[in-house]
Amino acid sequence: MTSFNIRARLVLVACAASFVAACGGDEPAQAPGADAVYRNGRIYTVDAERSWAEAVAVSGGRIVYVGSNDGADAHIGSGTQVVDLHGRMMLPGLQDSHIHPIGGGVEASACSLNGLPGLPEYRTAIAEYAAAHPDVPWILGGGWAMSVFGPGGSPDRAIIDELVPDRPVFLTSQDGHTGWANSVALDIAGITKDTPDPVDGRIDRDPETGEPSGALQEGAMKLMTRHIPASTLEDRLAGLRYSIEMLNGYGITAIQDAIVDEEALATYKAMEDRGGLSLHVVGAIWWDRDRGMEQVPEIIALRDKYSHGEIDAGTVKIMQDGVMENYTAAMLEPYLVPSGTRGIPMVEPALLRKVVTRLDAEGFQVHFHAIGDAAIRQCLDAVEEALLENGQLGHRHHIAHLQLIDPDDIPRFGELDVVANFQPLWAYADPYITELTIPFIGEERARWMYPIKSVQDAGGRIAFGSDWSVSSANPYHEMETAITRKSSEDSDMDSFLPEQRIDLETAIAAFTINAAFVNRNEDDTGSIETGKSADLVVLDQNLFEIEPADISETRALLTLFEGRPVHGDPAAL
Ligand SMILES: [Zn+2]
Repeated sequence: MTSFNIRARLVLVACAASFVAACGGDEPAQAPGADAVYRNGRIYTVDAERSWAEAVAVSGGRIVYVGSNDGADAHIGSGTQVVDLHGRMMLPGLQDSHIHPIGGGVEASACSLNGLPGLPEYRTAIAEYAAAHPDVPWILGGGWAMSVFGPGGSPDRAIIDELVPDRPVFLTSQDGHTGWANSVALDIAGITKDTPDPVDGRIDRDPETGEPSGALQEGAMKLMTRHIPASTLEDRLAGLRYSIEMLNGYGITAIQDAIVDEEALATYKAMEDRGGLSLHVVGAIWWDRDRGMEQVPEIIALRDKYSHGEIDAGTVKIMQDGVMENYTAAMLEPYLVPSGTRGIPMVEPALLRKVVTRLDAEGFQVHFHAIGDAAIRQCLDAVEEALLENGQLGHRHHIAHLQLIDPDDIPRFGELDVVANFQPLWAYADPYITELTIPFIGEERARWMYPIKSVQDAGGRIAFGSDWSVSSANPYHEMETAITRKSSEDSDMDSFLPEQRIDLETAIAAFTINAAFVNRNEDDTGSIETGKSADLVVLDQNLFEIEPADISETRALLTLFEGRPVHGDPAAL
C-alpha cells in the first residue's frame, strides 16, 4: 500500500465514524441508519482476541459496528437493509497470498487439461479443441499433470503430432514449470538437437538421437514463448473476469498476484476503470533474472504508475529455483539421481543478497518462490542481510511454496519476520510426492516437507495461497488439507506427516489476518472490526461445528466487497 492509499483510507474511516455518530445522536427517529445490518450470525471476527459476534453494521462500504444483535439495533434506520443470517457463520473476506488470476483465467478459456485423469483424456481434449477452433493459429493452454508421464514428468511431442500435425501447439504443465510442444512449434522456435540448454532450464531430449523430445523445462520455455503471439487486452480481461467471479464465489476479496508485468498491471487497471475489480490486488512485479540492478528504476516506475485504488504494485517477485519433480529445485544435498544434481539456483546467492537489500531499501516487499532447502536458505540469508544493512523496515518479505525446509532454518522465519506462504493443498501424499519426489530425495529429508506446524511453533507467521491455476483456488479444500494432511477428496488415506497438522484457527488466520499482513492491508482488511472495509463472507456451515473432513464441502452463500454483494443475494439467505 502506498502512503497515499493509507491516508485515503484513514479519511474514509473517519467519515464513516462521524456519519454514525451524527445519525446515532441527533435525530434517532428519522435517522437513515446504516446501509445494512447483518443479524443473528455466528460471526468469527479474527480480531486479536479471536472474539465472536452476532451482528455487523455496514455503511459507506465500511464496518461501522460489530457486536450483539441488541447493539446493532441502534444502527437500524429507515434506509437500512436488515439481513437475518439465520445463525450462519460469517468470516472476514478471505485472501489468497499467491495466485495467477490472469494467466489462469486465460488458460481456463483455452485448451484446458486441468483435472483430467490421464493421457487418453488429454488426447481427446486436445483433438476436440483443435477441431472446435480451426482458425486459431497457435493452440495454447495446459494444465497437464507431470505424474501422468512418470518420473521426470516429461511428455513427448509425438503424442501431439498425431493429433495436430499442421499447427503449433504449446501446453504448459499444471504447475507452470514445463511446456509441452509439438514438432511444428519446435520448428517455429528453431529448437533442434544443436540448441544448447539455457542456464536456467533444460530442453528434454531423446536419449538416443539427442533430438528435442517436446518437453521444455523452466527457462527453456522462453525459447518457445517468445514466438507465441501476445494475448490481447480483451483476452486478458476475459480471463481476469473468469477468475474474479470464481474467487468472489469462494468468498475471496483480496489477492496477491504472484507474477505481474506491465501488461498484467494494465489489465487490472482496465478492469478497475470498468468497475469490475471486486478484489484488493497486490501485484508482485517479476524480477527478470537475465538482467541486473539496472531494472530497479523501471520497477519503481511501474509501482508509482499503478499503485492506486484497489491496486498495490509494491511487491517484487523473485523466483529462486524450480520444482523438485524435474530436479530443478535447489537442494543442499544432491538428488538421488545418477547425475547427482542439486538443482538450479536461479539468482546467484551473492547477487540475490544485494538485490533484496536494494529492493528493501526502496520500500518493496519481496515475494520469493523457493521450493528446495538450498533456495529457501538463500532467500532467508538475503533477507537477513537486508535487515542488517537497512534495519527492520517492515516490508513483510515472504517465501512461497516452502516444500523442503532444512530444520536449522525453521526458526529463522520468526526471527527475521519472513512470512511462510504455504500452499497447503500440496501437503498430502499425492503421486507428485510419493512417486516423483520422495524416491529422489529420500525418506530422511522428506520428513521436512511443508512443515507448517514446525514453522508456527517456532514463532513464524503462516499465510496461505492457492497458486491457482496450479491447484484449486477453493480455500475450503486448502483449509481441510492443512488440518488433515490428507486429500480433501479421500479421508481414508493416511495423514502425510501428521505432526505437521495445524488447527482450524490457524488455517483461518492464514487466509484472513495473516494474508492481509502479507498484502500490507491488515489495517483495513483481514478481520471484522469497526472501521475496516466491509469485506465479508457468509458460509453455509459453521467450520467449528463440523468434522475436518467436511470443511471442503463448504459453500460461500454471500460475499461482500466493500459492503457490496459480489456473490449471492442477501435477500435470499
Ligand atoms: Zn505461483
